[in-house]
Amino acid sequence: MLLRFDIDAAEPLPRYLLSRRSALDAVHLLAIDRDGAIRRASVAAAALPSSMAGGYFKTPLPGVTRATRQIVVAVDLPSHRMTLERAYLAPEDAVGGTADMRFLIILAGLGGMLVMPLFFNAAFYRALREPFVLWHSVLALSLLMTILVSSGLSVMFFDPPAMTLNWMTALIFGMTIGSGTMFTYSFIEPGLMHPLLRRLLPYCAAWAIVLSTFHAAFPFVARPVQSTAYTAAFAPVLAVFIMSVIDALRRGSRAAKFQAVGYMPMVLVALIRLVTGVIPWSHSFDAMILFYVGCICEVLFTTLGMADRFVTIKRERDRARSEAELLERLSETDPLTGLLNRRAIEQQFEQLQAEGFATLAVVDLDNFKAINDVNGHAVGDAVLKAVAKALQAGPGVRAYRFGGEEFVLLLRGDDAEVQAELRRQAIPVVVASTVPGLERAVTASMGVTNFLGDEGLEKPYERADQLLYAAKRAGRNQTRSAIQPSLARDAPPGVPAMVA
Ligand code: GH3
Ligand code: MG
Ligand code: MG
Repeated sequence: MLLRFDIDAAEPLPRYLLSRRSALDAVHLLAIDRDGAIRRASVAAAALPSSMAGGYFKTPLPGVTRATRQIVVAVDLPSHRMTLERAYLAPEDAVGGTADMRFLIILAGLGGMLVMPLFFNAAFYRALREPFVLWHSVLALSLLMTILVSSGLSVMFFDPPAMTLNWMTALIFGMTIGSGTMFTYSFIEPGLMHPLLRRLLPYCAAWAIVLSTFHAAFPFVARPVQSTAYTAAFAPVLAVFIMSVIDALRRGSRAAKFQAVGYMPMVLVALIRLVTGVIPWSHSFDAMILFYVGCICEVLFTTLGMADRFVTIKRERDRARSEAELLERLSETDPLTGLLNRRAIEQQFEQLQAEGFATLAVVDLDNFKAINDVNGHAVGDAVLKAVAKALQAGPGVRAYRFGGEEFVLLLRGDDAEVQAELRRQAIPVVVASTVPGLERAVTASMGVTNFLGDEGLEKPYERADQLLYAAKRAGRNQTRSAIQPSLARDAPPGVPAMVA
């Protein structure tokens, strides 16, 4: 196809041909003078420089003078209609005016904004190993590269040949669609998208990457229809994506709301490009400004969506943690008396030893079965509560219920043994004042021992239990004690072995 430009003598002389980049083979230019003289130039595709105008290539015209009337352009194997539709002559490369420069600066600033999510994500990912964090990074990176290659920024910094930018654009496009789709796939909450749509998304991502890689590598295979077919082949991806978000919205997904707003401009761009690219009689339109807005909007709202997700996840974790702590506390507490149980001692054993609790007493109520039998189980319960009250006293004594009518005391201090005995003797007094109507005093027997070295809880408990058994056999309502002086930290030698 040939393009002919008539040169207006009133305008400044053109020096460049500029047009939309697409895969092509070569550009041939003829400058035809009024007198019929012809100058020609041919530029192979690989030698085409990029223009500062985003998405355009430029090529110098063969000597244009005031005598030149026409420029004829022939493009070998153009693969996109826009290369022909958008061609124009200009006296200089596109960016000359301050308005263009300002636009590039704004674009550079927005590009810089897209770097931020990369840092955030790296930090987020350390705390939250969710795949959507990684996909979001790939997406942000793709959009950043998209802005670079599709605008004059890449030309300003690297000045890559037009054809290099061409295949890069295709690859990055595939990467953008792929990562955007995978982000949606992993970001929409479990159960809030139809399983079929969810399963389709990774296929869409793979399809987009295969398509764009193929298009970048073999741009001429089906040349007359390839660009159109390439554009049209993304229609199913777009359809599945839109259906997924709508479906997730209908199921009440919060993530989908951010997706819907963030992707809106980009979906609009995609629809415009699909419609204008596929319908033969419409002028193709790439909606570049809306496209840049779309890039920023996409990153902005997906980032907000992620921040929102982090808040939700943190809240859920906090709730789960406090529930676990509550259960933990419940499992260490005896519901009847409110005392801690054996499990609690086991959990805190090292801490308790470090705090100096070195004396252990096992306390068992005497003939408690008879109290239940005579007064009933409810009164028995009331007695147990009163006993718990009697056993608790100050920071030097810790009382535990070890099941049934058996209690354990952990004590510290020089007078630990005396304190244990005081607690045991408090039982009949507190029970009598708390549970009226009992026909006889509720007493207890006790075995007392101390921790030797780091023998743990089990052994001293067995010793104390045997001492308790001895106290029972000796007639109940008394204490048997075996504090080993050589190892006892707080009992000086000479403390009587039995207090009763
Ligand atoms: P001894 O002096 O030999 O210890 O006699 P005892 O009757 O206290 O001992 P035994 O182990 O035979 O009986 C313990 C009784 O404690 C049996 C059970 O009915 C009662 N008991 C255990 N747990 C509870 C409880 O939670 N509430 C009430 N009311 N009674 C309990
Ligand atoms: Mg008993
Ligand atoms: Mg018992």
